[in-house]
Amino acid sequence: MSGTASRAEVSNFEIVEHWFNVAADRLELRDDLRAVLRTSYREVQVQVPVKLSDDRIHVFSGFRVQHNGARGPYKGGIRFHPEVDLDEVRALAELMTWKTAIVGIPYGGAKGGVNVDPHALSKQELQTVSRSFLDKIEKVLGPNRDIPAPDVGTDAQVMAWLMDEYGKLHGHTPACVTGKPIELEGSYGREAATGRGVVFMFREAAPLVDLVPSETTFAVQGFGNVGSWAARLMQQLGAKLVAVSDASGALHSAAGIDAEALTSHLAEGGKLAELPDAEAIAPDDLLGVECDVFIPAALGGMIHSDNADRLRCKMIVEGANSPTTPAADEILRSKGVYIVPDVMANAGGVVVSYFEWVQNLQHFRWDEREVNDRLGRIMRKAFREVSARSKATGTGLREAAFELGIERVVDAATVRGYIS
Ligand code: NAD
Repeated sequence: MSGTASRAEVSNFEIVEHWFNVAADRLELRDDLRAVLRTSYREVQVQVPVKLSDDRIHVFSGFRVQHNGARGPYKGGIRFHPEVDLDEVRALAELMTWKTAIVGIPYGGAKGGVNVDPHALSKQELQTVSRSFLDKIEKVLGPNRDIPAPDVGTDAQVMAWLMDEYGKLHGHTPACVTGKPIELEGSYGREAATGRGVVFMFREAAPLVDLVPSETTFAVQGFGNVGSWAARLMQQLGAKLVAVSDASGALHSAAGIDAEALTSHLAEGGKLAELPDAEAIAPDDLLGVECDVFIPAALGGMIHSDNADRLRCKMIVEGANSPTTPAADEILRSKGVYIVPDVMANAGGVVVSYFEWVQNLQHFRWDEREVNDRLGRIMRKAFREVSARSKATGTGLREAAFELGIERVVDAATVRGYIS
């Protein structure tokens, strides 16, 4: 069965705005400070005209938004997806500002994107779009200015083209982009990092809801970079994947779906719903599958007021950005679901991007164990700090995480003298 799961009417921007306002109210932030923190520092929109194999020029729109740079150079992924627009990129850039502050790495927040469907392009066409977009935005990028990384629809190959194009203009500069292939000064552990970070967060939270990893059942929405790595690493802990979806369909098996076999099946060009020994289900029915942990790892707004009630899990670990609308969040909390929010749960990618940047600046390489150990230390520390704050103030992890992130950005902006 194929089809796409429903998404909420509320935009990613409204979701981020809601949680910012909740935290800002609790912090009693002055109106003028709110205005500084809500507004992007720079928003670039460019035309990306590309001649495709049909011999016609297709005009895409490209965006790079730099939200706040008080804590360091701007950092954030580049998304290739037909629905990308300025509002969405703006919201994702702001989330990066709070995320980097919550995990304590020295960056500001940014995001970029092109409203193109990468799956509709040949590899050559994708390369042309990537290089053309970089040419249009390179003036605002650089290793001490703004460092892109992969997001939905982009991967290590796209990052390699971006680095190469940037190098033509500025000389070899590996630290200008992260998430690069290992052959091109990428970091060991970067590809799996966001999924690994999700699993570190699950391990911290599991005892709080009486879950034992080796006896846990879980479902994953979106089986791309984040979802497939989270699934494979959960499986390594002994947890059982009972349902999974991607943009093409969804699967269920009470006996368990082999995440490794599914990854190989997809890499060989197979369709998710055609994996043997599992039942194809409607994408919307994924949410109704009984499991201990639900991991959204697709797009924003996919858990909303019309479907939140269907979830039958004890915990949600948000791999995707803004997967849960505020109304859905309220429904889930009233059902007692423990939510580890995106701003901390999916920070593993940017943390290992930070490690990649550090290695590139030093022209030195760490082995994978060192990368994973350091990632674990940072993720565990972030969980401890956010959960301690949540206990002390009697709020959920999401409010506590936003408060911590906003406070750290305000502190940095104040000592710089940007605000007083
Ligand atoms: P990806 O392109 O590798 O994978 C996205 C997956 O979602 C694909 O399997 C796709 O088929 C699926 N999908 C798309 N629409 C769907 C739908 N309607 N229903 C079910 N599945 C659907 O992207 P990714 O890098 O894995 O990113 C996934 C999410 O994680 C995004 O929200 C992204 O912003 C967030 N994120 C990614 C990273 C990273 O390092 N890649 C870091 C932090 C957060």
